[in-house]
Amino acid sequence: MNPERSRLDTPVTEFRGVGEARASALFKMGIFTAGDLLRCYPRAYQNRGDTVPLSVIREKLKNGESDGPFSVLLTIAAEPSVSMIRRGMTLLKVRAFDETDAVEITYFNQTYLRDKLTTGAMFRFFGKFTLEKSKLKLNSPISEPYAEGVPLPDIVPVYPLSSGLTQKMMASLVNEALRMCGNEIAEFLPSDARVELGLPTLGCTLTNIHRPESMDMLESAKRRLVFDELYLMFLSITLSGAKLKRDNTIPMKLSRQDAAAFKEVLPFELTNAQRRSVNEIAGDMGGEFLMNRILTGDVGSGKTIVAAAAVYTAVKNGYRAALMVPTEILANQHYEDLSELFGKLGITCALLTGSTKKKERERILAGLNDDGTDAGKIDVVIGTHALISEGTVIGRLGLAVIDEQHRFGVTQRAALFEKAADVHCLVMSATPIPRTLTLATYGSIDVSRIDELPKGRQKIDTFLVDERYRERLNAFIRKQKEEGHQVYVVCPAVDEAEEDPYAKKYDGNDTDEMADVPLVENWRDTSVPLKAATAFAEVLAEALPDLKVGYVHGKQKPAQREAVMAEFASGDLDVLVSTTVIEVGVNVPNATLMIVENAERFGLSQLHQLRGRVGRGTAKSYFILVSDTKNPTAKDRLNAIKSTTDGFKIAEYDLEMRGPGDFIGENGIIRQHGQMNFTLAATCRDTDMIERASFYAKRTAEADPELKEETNRRAAKQLERFVKEFGNTQN
Ligand code: ADP
Ligand code: MG
Repeated sequence: MNPERSRLDTPVTEFRGVGEARASALFKMGIFTAGDLLRCYPRAYQNRGDTVPLSVIREKLKNGESDGPFSVLLTIAAEPSVSMIRRGMTLLKVRAFDETDAVEITYFNQTYLRDKLTTGAMFRFFGKFTLEKSKLKLNSPISEPYAEGVPLPDIVPVYPLSSGLTQKMMASLVNEALRMCGNEIAEFLPSDARVELGLPTLGCTLTNIHRPESMDMLESAKRRLVFDELYLMFLSITLSGAKLKRDNTIPMKLSRQDAAAFKEVLPFELTNAQRRSVNEIAGDMGGEFLMNRILTGDVGSGKTIVAAAAVYTAVKNGYRAALMVPTEILANQHYEDLSELFGKLGITCALLTGSTKKKERERILAGLNDDGTDAGKIDVVIGTHALISEGTVIGRLGLAVIDEQHRFGVTQRAALFEKAADVHCLVMSATPIPRTLTLATYGSIDVSRIDELPKGRQKIDTFLVDERYRERLNAFIRKQKEEGHQVYVVCPAVDEAEEDPYAKKYDGNDTDEMADVPLVENWRDTSVPLKAATAFAEVLAEALPDLKVGYVHGKQKPAQREAVMAEFASGDLDVLVSTTVIEVGVNVPNATLMIVENAERFGLSQLHQLRGRVGRGTAKSYFILVSDTKNPTAKDRLNAIKSTTDGFKIAEYDLEMRGPGDFIGENGIIRQHGQMNFTLAATCRDTDMIERASFYAKRTAEADPELKEETNRRAAKQLERFVKEFGNTQN
């Protein structure tokens, strides 16, 4: 045995009462040590401290306001009665009262309570109430004997469990771990960060997360955990970004080119935002360091032409440029547009994808290595990840442009960055990211934003309706068809059997249902039943028998999905019902209407991206959100989509409403937390806190990039665990 071992590393098997069965139940939850126990946060809390008079509960039930759970302080009125109601099922009934009212309490199969619930004894009960024929009833509540002077805990944690464990066991194991490790829990946050934000120490935080002294203490503990996660997340991102920058120190100064010739061939005037971005990029390419920049802007904001300007600069300086995109369709599209443009400038383009024929491929590879002035010379190569496949060598590469980088796989991205390690690098993203997050998520990458659409874009009319409009909606769909147009319908789920991922149900533990204060809040209104794409397609087909309705979703085989998409693109289908798989990469200019079912389930940025799928042709287009939500916050969110079309504004609003987690997830930077669906950080709506976490993470990464200093060493350890839990953050 290692005497140096930290108590935090004590195996759970050494805890009292943990045998083989319990150990394996704990292992299943990823709990192996005392430290793991401390990090197994309750998923909710029961607030049993606020006891409510029975008369108040009766009022609330009468008004249909709430059935609890409530905490009540009651005296037992008479001995319980026990009866057998079925084979193997006993029913215990007992009457109890407070100063305001009386209630009948029932328990199933808990006969042993008969000896505890004695006449005159006082108990604190916690449970859900019903009103039956004006009789107040309380079903299977949690009971705690009450005695003056012996305080009961007010706030009781509810842990996630696996079968074979109970709340009591978990609580006692965690208490044991707290007792054992209390003074070994060392700080890993910079102390000035803690002071500035008024956060408790880590030791105090863990104690209050597991055994909250008060709701206020619980709140500060939560704030601290949220900050920790943000700090670690940004630290990890910044460190990987810092590495990129350090490696990129070889300069490749490319002089600004006479833009007149380039502008000459453009069929339009650049917008101000485009011009600004072109200038920022030219500044980078002519500077002391290699460019490392991300260009963000809504779909249709005109990123391609900005990239083309950079390509032009590289080629005019005698270098080659490569443009990599995630799909062949996109590669084809870019090739067509750019070869036409560059053709007029005497710049040669080539298209290299997985389906490029061998002969053509050989021609291209030769053209990419020819430094002479041969006729076969190729200046710009556009392609898919075939560009980074082995055997593809690009001579005198000066610029790598990566479009929609979040859609590349992790290994592809790594290979890409390796290949582009010593050239200027420009990444394009169609997801508008709030300012607060660009800084943080992209570490030391510079950011250009195109926050303005080219003039003359048609406005898409956005409406918010509820189920009462169903008939009218169907009529509207038919009208589009009659005018020769097509319709998208988006549903949040694939099929009806699918479990609602956000309305997580916990089984096997009665106290779980009664938890009333969740550890993390969910911004989604999950009270409205979920519509499923497959079933809804059938409903629509029935309501509109003369229309051709097809559906696509993520569970289909890619070939099948593409076949249906192609049918829709060619106009063979009138209506395409889908999940959000159509969010990216579809271009059907003939589609003039998109209807989003259960709109309350979607993130605003997601809705915004969906809206970008219509209005691509010349015909007037519509975006209709269908939601039966009664939740005022959810309604506010949906109204925000109605009132603005600025992707950045929407993204910022979204950040305030639901925290950064979904963005970071959407951009593939970190995976969502497996067990809880989201991280604690994901619930943070405090942009100030996000900014401060990013600031301190940056400072730490810059001052101590190897994380050698004592406090930072501990942060490094946390980081290791964090990366293991949340996935690789090195996008
Ligand atoms: P995205 O940012 O989504 O990549 P694109 O670069 O594909 O957008 O541009 C969308 C469309 O807008 C293209 O047809 C492009 O030619 C056109 N476009 C780009 N910039 C302008 C502009 N300044 N004025 C008018 N049309 C423009
Ligand atoms: Mg694009």
